[in-house]
Amino acid sequence: MTSQTTSNATAKDICHAIMARHRFLITSHARPDGDSIGSQLAMAYALEALGKEVRIVNADPAPEHYLEFPGVDRIEVGLEVLERDYDALIVMESSDFRRTGVSGLEGRFTINIDHHQGNTAYGDLNWLDESAAACGELVFELIQAMEVPLTLEIVTHIYLAILTDTGSFHHSNITPRTFAICRECVEAGVNPAAMARRVFDSNSFGKLKLIGALLDEMELRDEGRLAVLYLNDEILNATGTTYNDTEGLINLPLTAREIMAVAFFKLGADGDVRISLRSKYDVDVRAVASRYGGGGHKNASGFTVRGPLEAVREPIITEIEAAIAAGLQSKP
Ligand code: 5GP
Ligand code: MN
Repeated sequence: MTSQTTSNATAKDICHAIMARHRFLITSHARPDGDSIGSQLAMAYALEALGKEVRIVNADPAPEHYLEFPGVDRIEVGLEVLERDYDALIVMESSDFRRTGVSGLEGRFTINIDHHQGNTAYGDLNWLDESAAACGELVFELIQAMEVPLTLEIVTHIYLAILTDTGSFHHSNITPRTFAICRECVEAGVNPAAMARRVFDSNSFGKLKLIGALLDEMELRDEGRLAVLYLNDEILNATGTTYNDTEGLINLPLTAREIMAVAFFKLGADGDVRISLRSKYDVDVRAVASRYGGGGHKNASGFTVRGPLEAVREPIITEIEAAIAAGLQSKP
Protein backbone atom coordinates (compact mmCIF):
# COMPACT_ATOMS: atom_id res chain seq x y z
CA MET A 1 0.00 0.00 0.00
CA THR A 2 1.27 3.50 -0.74
CA SER A 3 0.39 6.93 0.50
CA GLN A 4 -1.89 7.31 -2.52
CA THR A 5 -4.14 4.43 -1.47
CA THR A 6 -7.70 5.57 -0.92
CA SER A 7 -8.12 3.60 2.31
CA ASN A 8 -5.30 5.61 3.85
CA ALA A 9 -6.42 7.28 7.08
CA THR A 10 -5.76 10.95 7.83
CA ALA A 11 -4.57 12.62 11.03
CA LYS A 12 -8.18 13.63 11.58
CA ASP A 13 -9.46 10.03 11.37
CA ILE A 14 -6.87 8.94 13.89
CA CYS A 15 -7.66 11.91 16.12
CA HIS A 16 -11.34 10.85 16.20
CA ALA A 17 -10.42 7.25 17.03
CA ILE A 18 -8.18 8.41 19.86
CA MET A 19 -10.75 10.77 21.37
CA ALA A 20 -13.24 7.90 21.58
CA ARG A 21 -10.86 5.67 23.55
CA HIS A 22 -9.10 5.82 26.88
CA ARG A 23 -6.35 3.23 27.33
CA PHE A 24 -3.54 2.87 24.81
CA LEU A 25 -0.65 0.53 24.20
CA ILE A 26 2.14 1.96 22.04
CA THR A 27 4.85 -0.04 20.32
CA SER A 28 7.28 0.19 17.40
CA HIS A 29 9.74 -2.01 15.54
CA ALA A 30 12.32 -4.18 17.33
CA ARG A 31 15.77 -2.64 17.90
CA PRO A 32 14.21 0.82 18.22
CA ASP A 33 16.01 3.83 16.76
CA GLY A 34 15.67 7.56 17.45
CA ASP A 35 12.55 7.86 15.29
CA SER A 36 10.78 4.99 17.04
CA ILE A 37 11.71 6.25 20.51
CA GLY A 38 10.83 9.85 19.67
CA SER A 39 7.55 9.00 17.91
CA GLN A 40 6.35 6.73 20.71
CA LEU A 41 7.22 9.11 23.53
CA ALA A 42 5.92 12.28 21.84
CA MET A 43 2.66 10.37 21.30
CA ALA A 44 2.60 9.10 24.89
CA TYR A 45 3.06 12.62 26.33
CA ALA A 46 0.36 13.98 24.02
CA LEU A 47 -2.13 11.24 24.97
CA GLU A 48 -1.45 11.83 28.66
CA ALA A 49 -2.04 15.54 28.18
CA LEU A 50 -5.52 14.48 27.04
CA GLY A 51 -5.98 12.45 30.23
CA LYS A 52 -5.48 9.06 28.53
CA GLU A 53 -3.67 6.06 30.02
CA VAL A 54 -0.61 4.92 28.10
CA ARG A 55 1.75 1.98 28.25
CA ILE A 56 4.75 1.57 25.93
CA VAL A 57 6.20 -1.88 25.23
CA ASN A 58 9.21 -2.56 22.96
CA ALA A 59 10.96 -5.82 22.11
CA ASP A 60 14.42 -4.31 22.71
CA PRO A 61 15.80 -1.58 24.96
CA ALA A 62 16.51 1.90 23.61
CA PRO A 63 20.12 2.53 22.53
CA GLU A 64 22.10 3.75 25.52
CA HIS A 65 22.57 7.36 24.44
CA TYR A 66 18.79 7.84 24.42
CA LEU A 67 18.33 6.69 28.01
CA GLU A 68 18.50 10.20 29.44
CA PHE A 69 15.77 11.57 27.19
CA PRO A 70 12.50 12.20 29.04
CA GLY A 71 10.34 9.13 29.53
CA VAL A 72 12.70 6.59 27.96
CA ASP A 73 12.94 4.87 31.36
CA ARG A 74 9.22 4.15 31.27
CA ILE A 75 9.41 2.05 28.10
CA GLU A 76 8.81 -1.56 29.11
CA VAL A 77 11.00 -4.12 27.38
CA GLY A 78 9.33 -7.45 26.69
CA LEU A 79 8.62 -9.96 23.94
CA GLU A 80 5.01 -10.61 24.89
CA VAL A 81 2.03 -8.64 26.23
CA LEU A 82 -0.42 -10.86 28.11
CA GLU A 83 -2.80 -8.14 29.30
CA ARG A 84 -5.71 -7.18 27.02
CA ASP A 85 -6.90 -4.22 29.09
CA TYR A 86 -6.32 -1.48 26.52
CA ASP A 87 -8.71 0.02 23.96
CA ALA A 88 -6.28 0.61 21.11
CA LEU A 89 -2.83 -0.39 19.97
CA ILE A 90 -0.71 2.26 18.25
CA VAL A 91 2.18 0.91 16.15
CA MET A 92 4.80 3.45 15.07
CA GLU A 93 6.93 2.98 11.94
CA SER A 94 6.72 -0.76 11.69
CA SER A 95 6.27 -1.79 8.08
CA ASP A 96 4.71 -5.10 9.03
CA PHE A 97 3.10 -6.27 12.25
CA ARG A 98 5.71 -8.91 13.00
CA ARG A 99 8.53 -6.33 13.00
CA THR A 100 7.36 -5.20 16.44
CA GLY A 101 8.91 -8.40 17.77
CA VAL A 102 6.24 -8.34 20.49
CA SER A 103 3.61 -11.10 20.56
CA GLY A 104 0.11 -11.02 22.03
CA LEU A 105 -0.84 -7.75 20.30
CA GLU A 106 -3.16 -9.29 17.70
CA GLY A 107 -6.89 -8.69 17.69
CA ARG A 108 -7.01 -5.22 19.27
CA PHE A 109 -8.13 -2.04 17.51
CA THR A 110 -4.87 -1.09 15.78
CA ILE A 111 -3.62 2.27 14.56
CA ASN A 112 -0.68 1.95 12.16
CA ILE A 113 1.42 5.09 11.58
CA ASP A 114 4.40 4.75 9.25
CA HIS A 115 6.56 6.41 6.61
CA HIS A 116 8.24 3.30 5.18
CA GLN A 117 7.54 2.21 1.63
CA GLY A 118 5.84 -1.18 1.52
CA ASN A 119 3.90 -1.01 4.79
CA THR A 120 1.44 -3.92 4.76
CA ALA A 121 -1.48 -1.84 6.15
CA TYR A 122 -2.20 -4.28 8.98
CA GLY A 123 -4.12 -1.75 11.09
CA ASP A 124 -7.79 -0.88 11.45
CA LEU A 125 -6.57 2.61 10.68
CA ASN A 126 -3.47 3.00 8.53
CA TRP A 127 -1.78 6.37 8.13
CA LEU A 128 1.01 5.76 5.65
CA ASP A 129 2.95 8.69 4.26
CA GLU A 130 6.20 7.90 2.50
CA SER A 131 6.90 11.57 1.96
CA ALA A 132 7.56 12.07 5.68
CA ALA A 133 11.26 12.25 6.58
CA ALA A 134 10.47 10.64 9.93
CA CYS A 135 7.48 9.02 11.55
CA GLY A 136 7.87 11.87 14.05
CA GLU A 137 6.64 14.28 11.35
CA LEU A 138 3.34 12.40 11.23
CA VAL A 139 3.11 12.30 15.02
CA PHE A 140 3.63 16.06 15.09
CA GLU A 141 0.74 16.55 12.66
CA LEU A 142 -1.43 14.27 14.75
CA ILE A 143 -0.59 16.14 17.96
CA GLN A 144 -1.62 19.36 16.25
CA ALA A 145 -4.86 17.75 15.07
CA MET A 146 -5.50 16.70 18.70
CA GLU A 147 -4.81 20.32 19.75
CA VAL A 148 -2.36 19.28 22.44
CA PRO A 149 -0.02 22.13 23.50
CA LEU A 150 3.62 21.58 22.51
CA THR A 151 5.47 20.83 25.76
CA LEU A 152 9.25 20.60 25.94
CA GLU A 153 9.00 16.80 26.28
CA ILE A 154 6.88 16.53 23.14
CA VAL A 155 9.05 18.74 20.94
CA THR A 156 12.24 17.15 22.25
CA HIS A 157 11.02 13.77 21.03
CA ILE A 158 9.72 15.06 17.70
CA TYR A 159 13.06 16.75 17.05
CA LEU A 160 14.93 13.60 18.13
CA ALA A 161 12.89 11.56 15.63
CA ILE A 162 13.65 13.95 12.77
CA LEU A 163 17.30 14.57 13.64
CA THR A 164 18.08 10.85 13.71
CA ASP A 165 15.89 9.60 10.85
CA THR A 166 17.26 12.17 8.43
CA GLY A 167 20.78 11.04 9.40
CA SER A 168 21.27 14.53 10.90
CA PHE A 169 19.81 16.19 7.81
CA HIS A 170 21.75 14.12 5.26
CA HIS A 171 19.09 11.89 3.67
CA SER A 172 17.13 12.75 0.57
CA ASN A 173 13.69 12.61 2.22
CA ILE A 174 13.90 16.09 3.76
CA THR A 175 11.21 18.57 2.68
CA PRO A 176 10.05 22.07 3.67
CA ARG A 177 7.64 20.34 6.08
CA THR A 178 10.66 18.86 7.91
CA PHE A 179 12.04 22.33 8.60
CA ALA A 180 8.63 23.80 9.38
CA ILE A 181 8.23 21.20 12.13
CA CYS A 182 11.79 21.67 13.39
CA ARG A 183 11.16 25.40 13.52
CA GLU A 184 8.13 24.84 15.74
CA CYS A 185 10.18 22.51 17.94
CA VAL A 186 12.89 25.13 18.38
CA GLU A 187 10.31 27.84 19.07
CA ALA A 188 8.86 25.58 21.76
CA GLY A 189 12.23 25.21 23.48
CA VAL A 190 14.42 22.64 21.68
CA ASN A 191 18.10 23.57 21.64
CA PRO A 192 19.45 22.12 18.34
CA ALA A 193 23.12 22.32 19.36
CA ALA A 194 22.46 20.53 22.64
CA MET A 195 20.37 17.90 20.86
CA ALA A 196 23.10 17.24 18.28
CA ARG A 197 25.69 16.90 21.06
CA ARG A 198 23.48 14.54 23.05
CA VAL A 199 22.70 12.33 20.09
CA PHE A 200 25.94 12.31 18.12
CA ASP A 201 28.66 13.30 20.61
CA SER A 202 28.00 10.98 23.51
CA ASN A 203 30.20 8.06 22.52
CA SER A 204 32.07 5.96 25.07
CA PHE A 205 35.82 5.49 24.62
CA GLY A 206 35.02 1.88 23.78
CA LYS A 207 32.87 3.06 20.88
CA LEU A 208 35.73 5.19 19.57
CA LYS A 209 37.95 2.09 19.65
CA LEU A 210 35.22 0.15 17.88
CA ILE A 211 35.13 2.81 15.15
CA GLY A 212 38.89 2.41 14.73
CA ALA A 213 38.66 -1.38 14.56
CA LEU A 214 35.77 -1.40 12.06
CA LEU A 215 37.37 1.16 9.76
CA ASP A 216 40.66 -0.70 9.98
CA GLU A 217 38.97 -3.77 8.51
CA MET A 218 36.77 -1.87 6.05
CA GLU A 219 36.88 -3.17 2.48
CA LEU A 220 36.50 -0.95 -0.55
CA ARG A 221 34.69 -2.40 -3.55
CA ASP A 222 33.37 -1.09 -6.86
CA GLU A 223 36.43 1.11 -7.45
CA GLY A 224 36.00 2.75 -4.04
CA ARG A 225 32.30 3.54 -4.42
CA LEU A 226 31.17 0.86 -1.94
CA ALA A 227 32.47 0.42 1.61
CA VAL A 228 31.91 -2.90 3.38
CA LEU A 229 32.09 -3.20 7.17
CA TYR A 230 32.03 -6.37 9.27
CA LEU A 231 31.04 -6.84 12.88
CA ASN A 232 31.63 -9.96 14.93
CA ASP A 233 31.99 -10.88 18.60
CA GLU A 234 35.78 -10.67 18.44
CA ILE A 235 35.73 -6.96 17.58
CA LEU A 236 33.13 -6.28 20.27
CA ASN A 237 35.12 -8.16 22.91
CA ALA A 238 38.41 -6.55 21.91
CA THR A 239 36.92 -3.06 22.27
CA GLY A 240 34.73 -3.79 25.30
CA THR A 241 31.56 -2.80 23.41
CA THR A 242 28.19 -4.35 22.65
CA TYR A 243 25.94 -4.56 19.59
CA ASN A 244 24.17 -1.43 20.83
CA ASP A 245 27.37 0.59 20.37
CA THR A 246 27.23 0.05 16.60
CA GLU A 247 24.34 2.51 16.16
CA GLY A 248 25.21 5.21 13.66
CA LEU A 249 28.63 3.81 12.75
CA ILE A 250 27.46 2.75 9.31
CA ASN A 251 27.29 6.39 8.30
CA LEU A 252 31.02 7.02 8.83
CA PRO A 253 32.29 5.74 5.44
CA LEU A 254 29.79 8.00 3.65
CA THR A 255 31.85 10.98 4.84
CA ALA A 256 34.42 10.01 2.19
CA ARG A 257 33.57 11.83 -1.02
CA GLU A 258 33.93 8.83 -3.34
CA ILE A 259 31.85 6.41 -1.28
CA MET A 260 28.27 6.15 -2.55
CA ALA A 261 27.03 3.23 -0.44
CA VAL A 262 27.91 1.26 2.68
CA ALA A 263 27.07 -2.34 3.56
CA PHE A 264 27.47 -3.37 7.18
CA PHE A 265 27.44 -7.13 7.79
CA LYS A 266 26.74 -8.04 11.42
CA LEU A 267 27.27 -11.67 12.34
CA GLY A 268 24.99 -13.08 15.02
CA ALA A 269 25.85 -16.01 17.26
CA ASP A 270 22.81 -17.84 15.84
CA GLY A 271 24.30 -17.90 12.31
CA ASP A 272 22.06 -15.10 11.05
CA VAL A 273 23.69 -12.22 9.20
CA ARG A 274 22.04 -8.84 9.68
CA ILE A 275 22.80 -6.35 6.94
CA SER A 276 22.39 -2.59 7.14
CA LEU A 277 22.72 -0.47 4.01
CA ARG A 278 23.22 3.27 3.53
CA SER A 279 23.63 5.34 0.37
CA LYS A 280 23.91 8.82 -1.05
CA TYR A 281 21.74 10.65 -3.57
CA ASP A 282 19.57 8.40 -5.77
CA VAL A 283 21.34 5.13 -4.98
CA ASP A 284 18.36 3.03 -3.90
CA VAL A 285 19.36 0.54 -1.23
CA ARG A 286 15.76 -0.10 -0.18
CA ALA A 287 15.22 -1.97 -3.43
CA VAL A 288 18.17 -4.23 -2.58
CA ALA A 289 16.88 -4.87 0.97
CA SER A 290 13.37 -5.62 -0.22
CA ARG A 291 14.64 -8.35 -2.55
CA TYR A 292 15.92 -10.09 0.59
CA GLY A 293 12.70 -9.63 2.56
CA GLY A 294 13.79 -6.44 4.32
CA GLY A 295 12.93 -2.80 3.73
CA GLY A 296 13.53 0.78 4.81
CA HIS A 297 14.14 3.87 2.72
CA LYS A 298 16.06 4.77 -0.43
CA ASN A 299 19.13 5.88 1.55
CA ALA A 300 18.80 3.60 4.62
CA SER A 301 17.59 0.02 4.67
CA GLY A 302 18.22 -3.35 6.28
CA PHE A 303 17.50 -7.09 6.17
CA THR A 304 18.53 -10.40 7.70
CA VAL A 305 19.67 -13.57 5.93
CA ARG A 306 20.86 -17.00 7.02
CA GLY A 307 24.64 -17.34 7.00
CA PRO A 308 27.34 -18.29 6.51
CA LEU A 309 28.62 -14.89 5.47
CA GLU A 310 30.81 -16.25 2.67
CA ALA A 311 27.79 -17.80 0.95
CA VAL A 312 25.64 -14.67 0.94
CA ARG A 313 28.12 -11.82 0.64
CA GLU A 314 29.01 -11.67 -3.07
CA PRO A 315 25.47 -11.74 -4.52
CA ILE A 316 24.48 -8.95 -2.13
CA ILE A 317 27.51 -6.85 -3.06
CA THR A 318 26.77 -7.37 -6.77
CA GLU A 319 23.22 -6.06 -6.23
CA ILE A 320 24.49 -2.99 -4.39
CA GLU A 321 26.97 -2.28 -7.17
CA ALA A 322 24.11 -2.39 -9.67
CA ALA A 323 22.12 0.02 -7.48
CA ILE A 324 25.11 2.38 -7.39
CA ALA A 325 25.45 2.27 -11.18
CA ALA A 326 21.74 3.03 -11.63
CA GLY A 327 21.64 5.74 -8.96
CA LEU A 328 24.72 7.61 -10.08
CA GLN A 329 23.08 8.46 -13.39
CA SER A 330 21.01 11.08 -11.59
CA LYS A 331 23.58 12.35 -9.07
CA PRO A 332 22.96 16.07 -8.53
P1 5GP B 1 19.03 -0.06 10.28
O1 5GP B 1 20.10 -0.38 9.30
O2 5GP B 1 19.33 1.20 11.02
O3 5GP B 1 18.65 -1.20 11.15
O4 5GP B 1 17.71 0.23 9.42
C1 5GP B 1 17.67 1.23 8.41
C2 5GP B 1 16.26 1.39 7.91
O5 5GP B 1 15.81 0.17 7.31
C3 5GP B 1 15.23 1.72 8.97
O6 5GP B 1 14.26 2.56 8.41
C4 5GP B 1 14.64 0.38 9.31
O7 5GP B 1 13.34 0.53 9.79
C5 5GP B 1 14.68 -0.34 7.97
N1 5GP B 1 14.91 -1.78 8.17
C6 5GP B 1 15.99 -2.35 8.73
N2 5GP B 1 15.88 -3.69 8.76
C7 5GP B 1 14.68 -3.99 8.21
C8 5GP B 1 13.98 -5.22 7.98
O8 5GP B 1 14.45 -6.33 8.27
N3 5GP B 1 12.75 -5.11 7.38
C9 5GP B 1 12.21 -3.91 7.03
N4 5GP B 1 11.01 -3.89 6.46
N5 5GP B 1 12.85 -2.74 7.23
C10 5GP B 1 14.06 -2.77 7.82
MN1 MN C 1 11.68 6.11 10.77
